[in-house]
Amino acid sequence: MKARATGRVTVIGAGLAGALLATLLAQRGFAVRVLERHPDPRGEGAPGGRSINLALAARGRHALKRAGLLETVDAFTLPMGGRMMHSEWGELTHQPYGATEDEVIHSVRRDRLNHLLLDAAEATGRVELVFGAALDGVDWAGKRLQLADGREEAWEVLIGADGGGSALRRAMDERAGLGVSEELLDHGYLELGMPPAADGGFALDPRCLHIWPRGGFMMIALPNDDASFTGTLFLPRNGDVSFERLGDWVHQLDFFQLQFPDAVPLIPRLREDFATHPVGLLGTVRCRRWRIGGEALLLGDAAHAIVPFHGQGMNAAFEDCVALLRLLEDDDRDWDDVFARFEAERRPQAEAIADMALENYQVMRAAVRDPVFLLRKKLEHELERRHGDRFVPRYSLVMFHRGPYAEAYRRGEIQADILDTLLQGVGTLEEVDFGEADRLVTGRLEPLPDPAD
Ligand SMILES: Cc1cc2nc3c(=O)[nH]c(=O)nc-3n(C[C@H](O)[C@H](O)[C@H](O)COP(=O)(O)OP(=O)(O)OC[C@H]3O[C@@H](n4cnc5c(N)ncnc54)[C@H](O)[C@@H]3O)c2cc1C
Repeated sequence: MKARATGRVTVIGAGLAGALLATLLAQRGFAVRVLERHPDPRGEGAPGGRSINLALAARGRHALKRAGLLETVDAFTLPMGGRMMHSEWGELTHQPYGATEDEVIHSVRRDRLNHLLLDAAEATGRVELVFGAALDGVDWAGKRLQLADGREEAWEVLIGADGGGSALRRAMDERAGLGVSEELLDHGYLELGMPPAADGGFALDPRCLHIWPRGGFMMIALPNDDASFTGTLFLPRNGDVSFERLGDWVHQLDFFQLQFPDAVPLIPRLREDFATHPVGLLGTVRCRRWRIGGEALLLGDAAHAIVPFHGQGMNAAFEDCVALLRLLEDDDRDWDDVFARFEAERRPQAEAIADMALENYQVMRAAVRDPVFLLRKKLEHELERRHGDRFVPRYSLVMFHRGPYAEAYRRGEIQADILDTLLQGVGTLEEVDFGEADRLVTGRLEPLPDPAD
């Protein structure tokens, strides 16, 4: 019989994944030490994190439920049941996300979620949170960590939840070569504040994720529970229409008045936001290996940072945490075995969601305003209504279901092929040959399995 996975776990990073992982590990009986480079974000005047709000979907919600935190989190999430598209002329088109009203995604403030997760970790009594402790390097032979301020400390098992720029990934790569690729997207993002309306209510419908799709670029806005929205402009960093060209207020205002006229009155500090908010970089990190034996493992963005266009980075990171804990349930497994199984199970999923996230940028900024795309969506929902055990749109498989991402990708390809066939020469839903649709769906798609716990 193999040795059981025991010992004190050192988690690097007290962000979303690090704080949830620490809680889950502690609930399972592990002693956990978490090193976080920033000061405690729950303190006064702590710096804000990147992206103010996030979309929480089924995978993330399941993980929070496993930690006993979903109800508390839901007290401050806002359900979004669809996309509200804003045209250049201010026309609104609503498109539901799911086939039923309970298929919604939830807007949540990153800072509040992070604070709650840190409180939960501390409340276990088995997690030591150490703030102002930035990992700088690892002495693998001596089993010591080097911190940026010169301090050193011992470690037994290391888990890197230190985000897209992971210092642990760098240290592991230097030691064992992880096969890391980092692809920077040529588009960046800028956050824009949209305060509540004059009467204190929401200035836009809070039950939707708002999108201003403009082909080569877009703006989105998610609601916050104080009746404000947070807008995010995604735009090429360089080139004809780009952040580079929006260097001064005249160009910035001109651009907004032309592209997003209905949004201009909603962003009273547009000029200040341009002047003070940095243009954020977006990219995809892929690694061929996520571990060094049973000594060190990467998860969350540290292992697989993705672009935000499917709203899944945090959800995938939370799903990682649950997957790791599930593997630790078997007492016969040592860390080497657990980490090996984790990497084998999760790496294909990370690859699939990375690709789907990149593809979804194209969908969000362009396809959502294309009538052919809108007909496709209608047909998808109709096929799901008829064959919900087999045909579920890829977007829904990713956001509302918890089957493997790679399986969502695979089924999505077959479904796209079925839709192509059914929509040939067809202009409305009524013209679709549903006899053929039924044959194709039952012939090509096997029933969906129940999700693993
Ligand atoms: C604009 C934007 C919008 C997004 N929208 C969504 C969304 O709607 N839905 C969704 O699911 N995801 C979304 N994401 C992705 C999501 O933010 C990330 O996937 C998620 O934050 C990953 O969590 P993490 O804990 O792995 O990393 P992080 O949240 O980055 O946390 C890493 C932590 O490690 C700490 N750290 C870093 N280096 C060190 C070091 N050397 N030593 C010690 N500590 C260190 C950091 O300070 C931080 O606290 C979005 C991302 C962006 C940029």
